[in-house]
Amino acid sequence: MKIIQTSSDIIHFVTFAKSQHQTIGFVPTMGALHQGHLALLKQAKAENDVVICSIFVNPTQFNDAEDYKKYPRNVEKDIDSIKSLCDVVFVPSVEEMYPTISNKMYDLEGLDKVMEGKYRPGHFNGVVMIVDRFFEIIAADYAYFGKKDFQQVVIIKKLVKIYKHTVRIVTVDTVREEDGLAFSSRNVLLSAEKRKEAPLIYQILLQAKSMAYKLSPHDIHKWIVEEFAKNNSFKLEYAAIVDALSLKEIKDFKESQEAVLCIAAYLDNVRLIDNLELYKK
Ligand code: AMP
Repeated sequence: MKIIQTSSDIIHFVTFAKSQHQTIGFVPTMGALHQGHLALLKQAKAENDVVICSIFVNPTQFNDAEDYKKYPRNVEKDIDSIKSLCDVVFVPSVEEMYPTISNKMYDLEGLDKVMEGKYRPGHFNGVVMIVDRFFEIIAADYAYFGKKDFQQVVIIKKLVKIYKHTVRIVTVDTVREEDGLAFSSRNVLLSAEKRKEAPLIYQILLQAKSMAYKLSPHDIHKWIVEEFAKNNSFKLEYAAIVDALSLKEIKDFKESQEAVLCIAAYLDNVRLIDNLELYKK
């Protein structure tokens, strides 16, 4: 596995691979790698001749400086854990990715203003800025994203469409720990005691799914708010039942071809997000 740190070197690598008619799978990450990231890499490896994984903690997507500072980083361990799964690990510096101060604004047709976008203003503009830059320099055939970040997937697909990137987006199911908690780089920030309570989010998602159609979206939402209120450790930020394409909250399950329940909640000052498809017609 090669370690590449500069844009010019990665462009050179990609150009050579393309000249050899090799397909390229790209997996962008922010490091602190876990089973969720490995699932993306495994799928990319199964489907491509060459796999590139980027590890870059992107400062422009953090709306909170403290969150950026405390984001877990362990690049050496990360590189070691993916040796057998990728051909290149791209670990650029901030200066390499942002040679000039970038404040490009993207019009994402409002998809970036709800849920995560509402509570983390500017977050998706930062995500899209870095992914757009990656897609410019890494001309991959396929890029892999986890459904764990459901809204992000919808927005990246919009970016590809609006900005006419040729890469195809592949989505990968959420990988969970045995007790149902979705793997996340932030899970290591939980105390051992609070970690035991963390599966509550998934339990609520599952119960809500079993209520779809029997109760209205409004009544399911009300039930979710009450469930979180019973628990002193969690602070619910939002729960939203949305149409999977428009991300608009739905009032009636008949309105939408596919509905997804998205939840963000704080546990132990750690912000956890998760989601579950309630149904697909
Ligand atoms: P991150 O390092 O958090 O930016 O995540 C990099 C990629 O891994 C994103 O496409 C995430 O959606 C994906 N990912 C993170 N956690 C999981 C998980 N538990 N299961 C599947 N994919 C995940």
